[in-house]
Amino acid sequence: MTTTHNLGFPRIGHRRELKFATEQYWRGEIDRDTLLRTGRELRERHWKLQQAAGLDLIPVGDFSLYDQVLDHAVMFGVVPRRFGHAGGPVDLDTMFRMARGRAPTGTPAAACEMTKWFDTNYHYLVPEFETDTRFALSSEHLFEQVEEAGALGIPVKPVLLGPLSFLWLGKSRDTRAAPLALLEQLLPVYGEVLERLAGLGADWVQIDEPILTLDLPAAWHKAFESTYHRLQSAPVKLLLTTYFGALQDNLCLAANLPVAGLHIDAVRAPEQVAAVADWLAPHKVLSVGSVDGRNIWRTDLSAALDRLEPLREALGERLWIAPSCSLLHVPVDLGQEDRLDAELRSWLAFATQKVEEVSALKQALDRGREAAVAALQASDAAVHSRARSQRLHRPEVRERMARVDARMSQRQHPYSERARVQHQRLNLPAFPTTTIGSFPQTDEIRAARRDFKAGRITAQAYDDKMREQIAYAVRQQEDYGLDVLVHGEAERNDMVEYFGEQLEGYAFTRYGWVQSYGSRCVKPPILFGDVVRPHPMTVEWARYAQALTDKPMKGMLTGPVTMLQWAFVRDDQPREETCLQVALALRDEVTDLEAAGIGVIQIDEPALREGLPLRRDDWTGYLAWAARCFRIAASGVRDETQIHTHMCYSEFNDIIEAIADLDADVITIETARSDMELLDAFHDFDYPNEIGPGVYDIHSPNRPEVTQMVELMRKAAQRIPAARLWVNPDCGLKTRGWPEVEDSLRNMVTAARQLRRMQ
Ligand code: GLN
Ligand code: ZN
Repeated sequence: MTTTHNLGFPRIGHRRELKFATEQYWRGEIDRDTLLRTGRELRERHWKLQQAAGLDLIPVGDFSLYDQVLDHAVMFGVVPRRFGHAGGPVDLDTMFRMARGRAPTGTPAAACEMTKWFDTNYHYLVPEFETDTRFALSSEHLFEQVEEAGALGIPVKPVLLGPLSFLWLGKSRDTRAAPLALLEQLLPVYGEVLERLAGLGADWVQIDEPILTLDLPAAWHKAFESTYHRLQSAPVKLLLTTYFGALQDNLCLAANLPVAGLHIDAVRAPEQVAAVADWLAPHKVLSVGSVDGRNIWRTDLSAALDRLEPLREALGERLWIAPSCSLLHVPVDLGQEDRLDAELRSWLAFATQKVEEVSALKQALDRGREAAVAALQASDAAVHSRARSQRLHRPEVRERMARVDARMSQRQHPYSERARVQHQRLNLPAFPTTTIGSFPQTDEIRAARRDFKAGRITAQAYDDKMREQIAYAVRQQEDYGLDVLVHGEAERNDMVEYFGEQLEGYAFTRYGWVQSYGSRCVKPPILFGDVVRPHPMTVEWARYAQALTDKPMKGMLTGPVTMLQWAFVRDDQPREETCLQVALALRDEVTDLEAAGIGVIQIDEPALREGLPLRRDDWTGYLAWAARCFRIAASGVRDETQIHTHMCYSEFNDIIEAIADLDADVITIETARSDMELLDAFHDFDYPNEIGPGVYDIHSPNRPEVTQMVELMRKAAQRIPAARLWVNPDCGLKTRGWPEVEDSLRNMVTAARQLRRMQ
């Protein structure tokens, strides 16, 4: 028999029950027991659902009230000093204070840092190691959950983040507490955890080491061997799980570690399966991740079986099957998407459906394809309809892609010449001031959008309301004395959704939520087909806004890479082709804006950096197509039209070449928190175009002082010639309130004026 299992299930619940319960708990509306009960109910529901689907082993320990990496820190007693934890069991509110800085009880303190989990849109809390970090088993949660599942008759496979990945994901400000140096101290606690799990009857334990798909420094590589030799003595069988990519140079290492089984990602890296099977010792289990845990497409079961059947021949019962990675990254249940059309729906599988797919594969492997005939027929039918659908394959889009030539990804003249005509046309002062696009999304705006969506107000009434908001934002900006204005994005719910809703080729779900961090969930659109722009998307708003002022009005678009990165993207063609389609649609929008008299157009690419592949070798290829797509979107305009881009992060050192390659006339970036030091990368590279380094942090409600901003800009001018500097905030203002926006921007304009006088 083939063994089936899962690496992790989404914990938020099909209606985001966990989000609502934790937020109620934080607001003091429900007590601890009620929150914990919601957690228990969700676990039970999800375990039973996986059991009913027929999985042989079900993950326990993948559930978390906030974040699974934080849970590990808590389990090992890694609580930074500032939370005043005296040792012993870590309580719920201490955990929440580490996550969010505050909780219903306990003194507030600065929250732990949050960062992206590999190349996903999930964010984990970074474990913080200090000189006096001592590891000690400090939480019973994992064991309690194992007991809980056992009592329900669930075939339990506890899940742990492996010691090396745990340390790798952590950080330390103190070199004496460098993560790897802590390994010796940490391993006994892992030993203890494994003992306890064995005591609770666990046979297999899943131990995740996703860092095995990264470029690992030699010391870390080496540490794997000693670590797993030590853990070998534990009285359980370890299934070492790797995912998100190929093992590549870590393949021999992973295949030879003294564990009972190895899980590999056969969706992202199908090419590695044969080599791993060859390398694996004859007594070890090979778990083949065959169902995509990172995307929402239905598995082509017949194709998967074509690959699995020979493996089954070769490995016999040592073949296990599972999703490629934890299903945390996909929505819970397609069953509730009652508004998707039947055709599109038939192409999809969410977490609930994915465990059923794993089960169907098992049926077919163990009892022949006839045994899973219904599942196979449905899968084949979906594959065929998707391959032939007119919505996916639009000849006009294909023809246009074929006609793309090198000229289309280049502006008419180099920046130095463009700058001359742009400056003549715009006639801006030195240190021109602008903002990043959005102004406060007030309750009034949100209420109007809700009313409109619910049919309580007409499209006309909604439009009027938005125009009123835009007019207000324009008047305010004129009053503050800003130089390049924006319309304020009142009409946009979200910077991707707004465009996706107007483009053909994108679809939206009702409940397709995935956890982004803590209680925050996102609902990525589905980019399923060839992208067509049936009509202009922003032109009327921009034209309206420009008519209200003599100052230049900046048009505002979301760039092709970001449109891709924040969606579930079709998997039947390379991502770069899909990106090119979006770029072509945006190119038409850009030229339409130009034709409507808009002289400055910003194309936001906040997600460019997060699209970077996990392996360094793949960076160049990605950055080349990403930059080319951006330029295709941007380059249909005349020299005198000024193209801006915006990115809200502050790490440019390793991608500065690609940033220059975008050839945007102006780039606005986040810098306020880095004290302008990040401009060193631009300086060292001799970055040739204009830059607007953010002079204040929009994430904080604090009003920035004039002197503070002047000082920052002077630091900027030490690195970039003043003639190429702009003055702007770090990012959009949609999350702020008008009073603070007003104070902050008035101060910012005053700062710019002082800088001009100082020249
Ligand atoms: N133009 C967008 C805004 O101002 C940019 C948002 C972003 O960078 N994430 O809100
Ligand atoms: Zn931003």
